[in-house]
Formats: sequence, structure tokens, C-alpha cells
Amino acid sequence: MTHRKRLRRARRLASLAALAWGVAGAACACGPQALGTARTIEIGGPATEIGLKTYPRTLKLDDGEFVLTFDDGPNPPTTDRALRALADECVKATFFLIGRNADAAPDTAKAEVAAGHTVGHHSYSHPGVTLRNLSEAAAKADIDRGIAADDRATIGAAGPQPTTPFFRFPGFADTGPLDDWLMTRGITIFGADLWASDWLPMTPDAELALLLGRMETARKGIILLHDTHLSTVQMLPALLREMKKRGWRIAHIVPGKGPTPLAPAPANWASETEKTLEHLWPKAPPGPGAIGTSGEPGPL
Ligand SMILES: [Zn+2]
Repeated sequence: MTHRKRLRRARRLASLAALAWGVAGAACACGPQALGTARTIEIGGPATEIGLKTYPRTLKLDDGEFVLTFDDGPNPPTTDRALRALADECVKATFFLIGRNADAAPDTAKAEVAAGHTVGHHSYSHPGVTLRNLSEAAAKADIDRGIAADDRATIGAAGPQPTTPFFRFPGFADTGPLDDWLMTRGITIFGADLWASDWLPMTPDAELALLLGRMETARKGIILLHDTHLSTVQMLPALLREMKKRGWRIAHIVPGKGPTPLAPAPANWASETEKTLEHLWPKAPPGPGAIGTSGEPGPL
């Protein structure tokens, strides 16, 4: 079977599964008490860079609307808990996979797609020094290897283009040439609007309080979490219940025709990425160098 045919078949099965799951969900697991998924937003048209932590624009969302994204999985012990928590509330999210984790846990990656979640890409090795500190050729190879690993894990085949053209840089550490290279291929680059700082050691209660406070201030946005962190998956059920209580809603991003609905950053906007990188990777040497990809993944 050609890649294109496999892709069409996978998409057909996914939409049938989503339909069946939605009907079943509406009938039993997801009554009016569940948070649910309020709407789906198609990402498409000219590829762009999205997320106020790094870029001067984000997704156009309504007040009280949030997009949940999870990085660094799949990691079965914690990712399975996240999937259960999301299923219990009929919430759809987006998982940005590390390719080598998808290679190691293809069944978990498949379960994400089967449950109707979106699977984007987050490099193959999540190099400890970030992609920014690899040579451009090495960074491109790591990105493409990651996309291929994710597609192999989820649909059983990898072609020249990703099934879902969504990418997030490890540590948000992009470069101009890599951004241009991805966007020329129609791949949208996701940053985030807010996060739970879940790379710091925290109790689930502390993480929940921190995130809810930030959500209350932001009122909307793309949230970055990590399904590899126990504290995050432990606090997730309470987060979803609390969102329901406060009247907040979930928007789910999927690849589509677009154009992507965008909103410009406020006038006083400034990127937080450089200072975050300095804080999280103070010892990372500046500029491209002959650094391998064997370092431990950074916290983002
Ligand atoms: Zn990451």
C-alpha cells in the first residue's frame, strides 16, 4: 500500500473512530457534567509561527477558551494516565511527540490518535543543548527523523511530508533558517501562550494552583504541559473539573485547509523565550557547533 493510500485509510478509520467515540461518549461517558471539547479549530493555509511566549501572534481564541498541548511523550506510565483523564472528560488535546519515544512506545502513540487527539512533532532526540546548538544539517535531520518516527508509530508508514504538519521546537529554541525551512514545507510552528512550569519539582496541588492562576490572568490561550511528568498527570483530572466549574472551554486544533485564525500580540508584547532558555540552559554553548545529540533532554 502506498503512503498516500495508508494515510487516506488511517484518516478514514480515525474519523469513523471519532464518530463512534463521540456518539458513545455523548450517550454515556460524557454527559453534561463533563468538560467536553467545545470546538475544533483547523490549522492550515500559509504556515506560520504561533504562541506568545516566542512569537508576536497566537491562535484567535474566545474568552475562556484554552488549547491543551502535551510535550515529550509518549511515556506509557504517565501518558496512559493523561489519556484516561482526557477521555473521562471527553477532552481532545494535542501531543507533540519525541520521535525516539514514539519508536519505543508505538502503541501509546497509536492510542492517542485512536482517541481523536492530534499528534504533532517535537524532534527525534530532544537534544539537551537544543536544536539551536546543532549544525543546521544535524538539526534538520533530527526534525525529519522525528516526524518519520511519529508517523511510523501512529499510521505505520512515513512519507516525505508529515501527516500532521505541526512542529514545536524543544525548549522553543528555534532559528530563523529552521523556521523558514519548516514553513516552506507547510509546517506550522507552535510555541505556547502559557505553561505550568511543570519541569520544576512541584506537588500536583501546587502545579494546579500555579496554572489556574495563570489561566485566570491570561483568560485564554495555548497551554504547554508535559505528559511525561507525574505531577502533571496527577493534577489533570482536577484541572479539567475546575475548568468546567469556571465555565472555561476546550478548543481542539487539527490540521485543515485554514487559514489559521490568528490574533496579534498585545502592543507591549515581548518574547520570553531567550530569557527562559538562558535560565534553563545556562551552560549551553552559544551558536552552532559540533555537538552530538546524546545529552539528556532539556526540561522543556
Ligand atoms: Zn520538550
